[in-house]
Amino acid sequence: MGTSTYDFEGETAIVTGGSSGIGRAVARRFGEAGATVVVADVRAEPKGKGGPTHEAIEDQGGRATFVGTDVSDPAAVESLVEGAREFGGVDIMVNNAGIFRGAPLLETDTDTFDRLYATNARSVLVGTRAAATDMLDREEPGTVVNTASISSEFAQAGHAAYDPSKAAVMMLTRVAALELAGRGIRVNAVAPGAVATGIGSGGEEYSIPDSARVEKEAPMGRRADPEEIAGSYLFLASEDASFVTGHLLYADGGYAIH
Ligand code: NAD
Repeated sequence: MGTSTYDFEGETAIVTGGSSGIGRAVARRFGEAGATVVVADVRAEPKGKGGPTHEAIEDQGGRATFVGTDVSDPAAVESLVEGAREFGGVDIMVNNAGIFRGAPLLETDTDTFDRLYATNARSVLVGTRAAATDMLDREEPGTVVNTASISSEFAQAGHAAYDPSKAAVMMLTRVAALELAGRGIRVNAVAPGAVATGIGSGGEEYSIPDSARVEKEAPMGRRADPEEIAGSYLFLASEDASFVTGHLLYADGGYAIH
């Protein structure tokens, strides 16, 4: 099975959370497809194997840079977008960075709720707003692809902070798509199901008590490799999706339809 190819030569893509997991795979695919990639993350090194994403892209002959960015800090996201002017300005904004913390409602404190909301959802508002403003100022409309989740629409026990943050990503995508449709900017989201990444692999961010359940209930019966999710972002950012906006593209092994 080959991977389909896109041509993003001459375009600049910002990928938040691009050091690990889904964001790393997305950044690498955009790099392979000729885009200049700005990898934005709180950490340069991936959680798993390999060196920094921008180095991996450069090793493959692509163009990439790393910008240390905390997406829960609006000023940092704005300066990230402004910094992309060095490469001609952002054409593709991928708001992907996110964190998970599992806790039942009765044990979810407001600090945790606020932290997940700021990192997973508010960052999408700020990233979309900053990118769209910059595109309109330059009169070069581009596209935004957000990372939603099956959690955007399907609630799970133990996800009292995470699922609402991902539901907000879905609605921010739709509102932004509506408001920007007439100005040439498309806004879409990919909604992954269970993906084998570091988001649930230990450390203080993690406890997904029922990740095994998601795996079991996904009709394909397994977690995805991040590489299997990345192509959806390229499709949504490409001209092949020129009439697609406000869409939530499930890449979930059939979870949403069963
Ligand atoms: P991951 O932990 O492998 O990667 C997330 C990346 O985001 C990491 O490199 C991390 O350093 C970075 N990050 C975390 N907080 C940040 C911050 N404040 N500012 C900048 N960068 C930050 O996880 P992943 O699974 O690849 O997650 C990527 C996105 O996919 C998240 O939005 C997540 O909610 C979503 N998602 C994941 C799954 C899954 O099963 N893995 C399913 C649906 C949706």
